[in-house]
Amino acid sequence: MSEFIDRLKAQFEAQRKAALAACRECEKPLPIHVGRGQPRLTCVECEGAKRITRQMIPARNCERCGTSFIPQRNNGRKYCSQRCQRLSEPSRQRGT
Ligand SMILES: [Zn+2]
Ligand SMILES: [Zn+2]
Repeated sequence: MSEFIDRLKAQFEAQRKAALAACRECEKPLPIHVGRGQPRLTCVECEGAKRITRQMIPARNCERCGTSFIPQRNNGRKYCSQRCQRLSEPSRQRGT
């Protein structure tokens, strides 16, 4: 009988260890890390969200149509879309 309890304990211990690999942000369990490299500390969703908040790019208004937009990167984009950019830079337009 005690053997059975020992087995249960071992199983519980293994589960507890697996449960340790949880996202630091949302505490969702992470997939068990395999292979080389550092195991991730946050899940993919939280990592993405953190990256976005870290950049904290302010919204700006399109110089062409005035639409408020958030640039993908802080690269000094002035227009909300490729269309507005093209309209504002006719020299770069492809044509005859
Ligand atoms: Zn998470
Ligand atoms: Zn625009």
